[in-house]
Amino acid sequence: MSTPKKDLRGGRPIWADMPRTIVKHRSRLAHEKCDVAVIGAGISGALAALALAERGHDVVIVDRSEPCRGSTLASTAMIQFELDTPLIELADKKGAALAARAYRRSFAAVQALGELITRHGIKCAWKARNALYLAGNEHGWRALQDEADYRLRIGLPSTFLGGPELASTYGIQRTGAIISEGAAEVNPVQLATGCLRAAQRLGARLYSPHEVTRVDPHTRGVDLHTAHGHVVSARRAVFTTGYTLLPGLPRDKFEMVSTWAIATKPLAAEAFWPGRCLIWEAADPYLYMRATWDNRILAGGEDSKLSSPERRDEATPAKAQRLLAKVQKLLPGRRLTLDYAWAGAFADSPTGLPYLAPAPDLPHCFAVLGCGGNGITFSVIAAEVVRGWVEGKIDPDAKLFQ
Ligand SMILES: Cc1cc2nc3c(=O)[nH]c(=O)nc-3n(C[C@H](O)[C@H](O)[C@H](O)COP(=O)(O)OP(=O)(O)OC[C@H]3O[C@@H](n4cnc5c(N)ncnc54)[C@H](O)[C@@H]3O)c2cc1C
Repeated sequence: MSTPKKDLRGGRPIWADMPRTIVKHRSRLAHEKCDVAVIGAGISGALAALALAERGHDVVIVDRSEPCRGSTLASTAMIQFELDTPLIELADKKGAALAARAYRRSFAAVQALGELITRHGIKCAWKARNALYLAGNEHGWRALQDEADYRLRIGLPSTFLGGPELASTYGIQRTGAIISEGAAEVNPVQLATGCLRAAQRLGARLYSPHEVTRVDPHTRGVDLHTAHGHVVSARRAVFTTGYTLLPGLPRDKFEMVSTWAIATKPLAAEAFWPGRCLIWEAADPYLYMRATWDNRILAGGEDSKLSSPERRDEATPAKAQRLLAKVQKLLPGRRLTLDYAWAGAFADSPTGLPYLAPAPDLPHCFAVLGCGGNGITFSVIAAEVVRGWVEGKIDPDAKLFQ
């Protein structure tokens, strides 16, 4: 067993130049024994390791690269409960009850992440924000009004704004929008390294660079063999290897796409829109954006089916200019200058929901794969589901994620 080696990102993400993005780890690995081994030290592995360490489990984390240098470094880290698939559409696909469960679970996950950050005192520029969802070529104002009504009926805080109200409050010209509480922005790498440090304080051991290349399940657990010939023996193993899909996962259920992101140079504080809410749109190709603590605009989108890392990187300059032009059009009157541009890969599923389930054909192993634009929110849910699996409890929403 080995996860494929494809570059998951290119260009220089803004987080690469921020403090507190390195976490101490051990490079010497002999034979390790533990209760749970976590393979992959991105945000998913960090949250899973911390959730387990908080409950007293003996955890070992292994990564083949420097921790937090996979997709987590590329993330624009808009933390939202709203899924890529609108609630109404998800209800058509999965049924009203399951769709409501998915949205409520996602809402609770964002709140739980805020609490976890406070509990462990993690410095990661976490800021609660509202989210503004603009009408676009995929869903117009009527669809957004219905969506807001539906969300309210299941108890989620969403309010429809008509075009004139949107223009007068936010200065944005669209036919309508939904404004929702319950979102946040964060520095994803500081969050992941902060979780890993908190897990280490609770006894977890982090090893890097060590690639797991073979998995041998046996009656009492699983032996993980590394490329350097070392073995980690665990009662259970959790694969948080991100978009380098674990072999055996139903690949036909996911589509790998490329996406691009930019950061502008810092702007004057008055250049920002009210409340610095997260902004995204019901359009294809879509645009989304947020502010940073140091007064930049982070924007992303322009997704395409390109899967070759080389072609993705070649496309970055043109995609970056297109993103900048779109932001400029949405927010006229500001002088925006490009400072960072980067690209990354991510997996899409037909429902926008993640895959969180015992790994097919690998006893004692669990696979985590966040999908779409909510990868970090899904990593929080994944950590809860993994903790339940390790402790022999069945998560009430397990069916949603298989
Ligand atoms: C441009 C971009 C923007 C995004 N924006 C958002 C956003 O605004 N909001 C949001 O919620 N999500 C967003 N996402 C998605 C989110 O970033 C991802 O879902 C999340 O970072 C995935 O984290 P992860 O820990 O699962 O994977 P990764 O961060 O990729 O970590 C996986 C780790 O596994 C390790 N690994 C792989 N195979 C092995 C092996 N065999 N042995 C040992 N180690 C191994 C890798 O080295 C890597 O460190 C975005 C993604 C991209 C690309």
